[in-house]
Amino acid sequence: MDENENNSRRKFIKAGAFAGLAIAGSVGAFEVLSQDDNKKKGDTVKLLSPDGKIVEVDSSEINPQIPEFIVSDHNVREGVPGKKFVMVIDLSRCRNAGKCKTACSKMHYLPEDRSYIKINKMQDSDRASPYWMPTPCFHCDNPPCVKVCPVGATFKLTDGIVGIDNDRCIGCRFCMVACPYSARVFNWSRDEFKLNVEEFKDIKQHAACSTHALGTVEKCDFCPSKTGHDELPDCVSACPNGVFYFGDEVEDVVSNGDETVRLSQLLKDKSGYRYLEDLGTKPRVYYLPPVDRQFPFEEEAPAHT
Ligand code: SF4
Repeated sequence: MDENENNSRRKFIKAGAFAGLAIAGSVGAFEVLSQDDNKKKGDTVKLLSPDGKIVEVDSSEINPQIPEFIVSDHNVREGVPGKKFVMVIDLSRCRNAGKCKTACSKMHYLPEDRSYIKINKMQDSDRASPYWMPTPCFHCDNPPCVKVCPVGATFKLTDGIVGIDNDRCIGCRFCMVACPYSARVFNWSRDEFKLNVEEFKDIKQHAACSTHALGTVEKCDFCPSKTGHDELPDCVSACPNGVFYFGDEVEDVVSNGDETVRLSQLLKDKSGYRYLEDLGTKPRVYYLPPVDRQFPFEEEAPAHT
């Protein structure tokens, strides 16, 4: 390989690195400038264009651009300072209205075949009547899903949320197998998911938010774009029956939108518990047992709630 070829190859690799940044950031890494007499002319470099073509341009016509936003910013893994988010689900109030699922799907731009909340029919014994049990991700304090991820794509934030970095996820699904609550879903969608840039920027301010990359894992994220601004997650505010309480364990306060109560008092008065607590996962979601149910059990969700 002669000296010219060597130079050319080095330039191509360097240019490729910049082009890689462009793809990672979903923005152009170079822009073509108008003629600049101060730059050296006649020195060409090869670039990878956003549509995958290799183009050769004069080096005086390119200018490295700082990406508009960085998609894998490690700082956003820290969580909201001083908070420990917690959820309480009152099983005596759930009648499978499904509004939590609808609101969640809307908030996260989910297609119809994917949901971050499941509502299961439960029956503890032959002599007990059935009840409905909503299950989001429990954001465990000892999360097996995080331990098995080989690339650090899922992680625990200081505010309690378990997040997923879809840019880092390789789709191995070890986390789905490790989760004893089946809280995670896989994105099989062949249709490329389309968010406009403004929505994407807002979502990427929160590392815990899923960004719908084909072949990666997703799940409930406790709506950090809301909870980071002292607002309730969408499932909580959408429920017409006050099933979900959400709040901060540090402040010892939770709210379902209608009433705000002490977390410790609520759990004590209504015998709060955590699902499959013996597993040692330490979920951040508590349940209140389905005693003194406020609605009769109906197989189908009521038409008007
Ligand atoms: Fe991980 Fe499953 Fe616990 Fe959520 S519920 S933190 S996915 S183990």
